[in-house]
Amino acid sequence: MSRSAIVVGAGIAGLTAANALLRCGWDVRVLERSPQPRTTGAGIVLLANALRGLDAAGVGDAVRAVGQRAYPGTLRDGAGRALVQVSAEEIAARLGTVAVALHRPRLQQALLDGLGDVSVTYGAVAVDVDPGDMARPAVVTLADGATLSADLVVAADGVRSRLRAAVAPDAAQPVYVGSTTWLAVLDNPGVTEMSQTWGPGGEVGLIPLGDGRLYWYATQVGPAGRATGAAAADLASARDAFARWHDPIPQVLAVTAPEQVQQLDLYGLPRPLPRMVRGRVALAGDAAHAMPPNVGQGGCQGIEDGVVLAASVSRTGSVVDGLAEYERVRRPRTSDVLRAAWASARIGEQLSNRALVGLRNTVLKALPARVMLDGMSRFASWTPPALP
Ligand SMILES: Cc1cc2nc3c(=O)[nH]c(=O)nc-3n(C[C@H](O)[C@H](O)[C@H](O)COP(=O)(O)OP(=O)(O)OC[C@H]3O[C@@H](n4cnc5c(N)ncnc54)[C@H](O)[C@@H]3O)c2cc1C
Repeated sequence: MSRSAIVVGAGIAGLTAANALLRCGWDVRVLERSPQPRTTGAGIVLLANALRGLDAAGVGDAVRAVGQRAYPGTLRDGAGRALVQVSAEEIAARLGTVAVALHRPRLQQALLDGLGDVSVTYGAVAVDVDPGDMARPAVVTLADGATLSADLVVAADGVRSRLRAAVAPDAAQPVYVGSTTWLAVLDNPGVTEMSQTWGPGGEVGLIPLGDGRLYWYATQVGPAGRATGAAAADLASARDAFARWHDPIPQVLAVTAPEQVQQLDLYGLPRPLPRMVRGRVALAGDAAHAMPPNVGQGGCQGIEDGVVLAASVSRTGSVVDGLAEYERVRRPRTSDVLRAAWASARIGEQLSNRALVGLRNTVLKALPARVMLDGMSRFASWTPPALP
């Protein structure tokens, strides 16, 4: 008889775990707080490690089919001068595959399609979980008082995870990363190259999504709480903040409509959690390691979690032993990535100072592309375990 898993959260991590567990023969049920799948959202870039993880979960080709083959393209300074250029060929030669950029709802749909007949229960809010043990199943309690038991519970309920406390009651709460960010997806006004600009006190990314649309993000160091919640006012403050940045940044912001933009303050866990599993419950994705977005690995790590989790619990007859293996493999890796993301966020924070920015840019310009490739490979060269 197949073993049962409840996945809480239909985000990137939860849906990857669900796909991977299904492939390993588990009976899977997904619970999602939102009343329906999200049809709006920003873009995302998935690096080589994530794509290999999605391949293992059986959905890599489906994701590539709806994404844009992406690569770092050009890293520019605030005046628009190229600091670093790495070609797709160089990345493919080093990592075996280039990255893919896509609209988040398309990624979500590809992951949902991978589930086949398994439907997600929308509007199901998990409020607690009893982790169970070797002898007892885990039990999830929903907001309406209903309880559901399973051999395994994957808590992939995001940065504000409610279930985290059942696994790591002493975990620190997420803290403000030090930056606010604006995100938008719009019809591409003619941007052909993926680029990142590192200017004083901020960063802008322009990422063609391959479906005729453009994803841009703009991050600015400063205090939390500047988003007004009124899209027109938030967009006006972005236009103001980046008005003197190089072309085509002001033009792209000018043709963005208020309903296409969202502004959010960035939060992450200040340090690695003391544990990722308890009894029959595993934390995955941002619930386990929400991090600043600076190394582009948050979602990628959630994908890795899902695949390693499925492999670990499927190789042994004991879920509890399998989860111990999951934690043994994932905790050091995600802790490294989380620390690197914070280090990168702090450098960004210090670079509100123009002299420091100039110094950083001079150093970057002098670096051979090989050093940039080494930096990218640090996390992206991961390969998934084989699923049994
Ligand atoms: C500006 C920005 C840019 C980023 N860019 C990238 C990038 O390019 N590449 C990358 O890899 N990562 C990126 N990230 C990080 C990435 O977005 C996250 O790491 C990733 O989305 C986390 O996925 P998740 O499934 O863990 O959590 P989420 O996507 O937050 O999903 C959690 C799900 O759980 C549901 N849920 C929550 N609570 C409950 C509950 N109690 N009961 C039931 N359901 C619940 C939520 O509704 C949600 O659907 C970026 C992040 C930001 C902020």
